[in-house]
Amino acid sequence: MNFDRYARQIAFEKIGRDGQQKICASRAAIIGLGALGTVIADELCRAGVGFLRLIDRDVVDISNLQRQVLYTEDDAREQIPKAFAAYAHLSKTNSEIKMEPVFADVNSSNIEAFVSGVDLVLDGSDNFELRYLLNEACHKHHIPWIYGGAVAASGSVMNILDGGPCFRCLLPEVPAPGSYPVCATSGVLNMITGIVASIEAAEAVKILSGSQAVSKKYRAIDLWENTFDAVEVHKNPDCPVCGKGQYEFLGKSRGAYTTSLCGRDAIQVVPEKPAEIDFAAFAAALEKTGAVKCSPFMLSFDDGKTAFNLLKDGRAIIKNVKDEKQAKAVYAEYVGL
Ligand SMILES: [Zn+2]
Repeated sequence: MNFDRYARQIAFEKIGRDGQQKICASRAAIIGLGALGTVIADELCRAGVGFLRLIDRDVVDISNLQRQVLYTEDDAREQIPKAFAAYAHLSKTNSEIKMEPVFADVNSSNIEAFVSGVDLVLDGSDNFELRYLLNEACHKHHIPWIYGGAVAASGSVMNILDGGPCFRCLLPEVPAPGSYPVCATSGVLNMITGIVASIEAAEAVKILSGSQAVSKKYRAIDLWENTFDAVEVHKNPDCPVCGKGQYEFLGKSRGAYTTSLCGRDAIQVVPEKPAEIDFAAFAAALEKTGAVKCSPFMLSFDDGKTAFNLLKDGRAIIKNVKDEKQAKAVYAEYVGL
């Protein structure tokens, strides 16, 4: 361990040498490398967490730069996958830790692999369905995780520790789409994402260093209303997850599915099984009808009306579409379902 690098953190007596050694020997996964995930990854990388698995499904877009602190205009221009861009920047920050970038959409078929072999998972995602899935995967494998969310000027954080209460005790049912504000329409301030992410990272450092000061409460912050609240959450003995060990979301078999991407006028289509797309063959066919651009990660197509980014594993981000049906229609026409 490089004591000089972590001197200020070791000097903080509640961490000290012992705590720092535990942090350096620990492993964490971050799901989602947006506004929350980039701040969490940056802070945990600098704090010396020995291994970070960096997972994200999207590429860097210019609208991300207002709050997603690891990315640059070059990353957006070149449409670099966030996992790879974050890995590249963080490698220059701390070359003494190990990192594993993962460019993938997290779902019921792969989440258990993504949370395996880590001591803690941090939520940097932007959707509820994924959090219910994460809640079940972590409960099943006895891995603590930290929930965090932010929209507009408000945010919330809660540690989900083994034994509960779990995320489903906090929110028993998935909120219906449209019943809660989302970043794309309500906006989000980079100050609230920074605060929520820093609380998540601080809790991570406490958990990983074995501190007794780990928060047991749900915390809610509103920067515009000037409120900081901490509320006790009680374990629900009838909770399907931490009460009964039933994994409804993890057990769901899935076909092809779609998700809208936060802050983007775009819908992602994920095929039932990962594919291996031959970009050269695809580009040759598509070039007859529109402009095609290829990078090692992505093929971009635009004919002035239809536009999409196609990824190697068969996922596609369809632009300028209003709903799932339209997105699937574009996918079926150009890629094939
Ligand atoms: Zn529960």
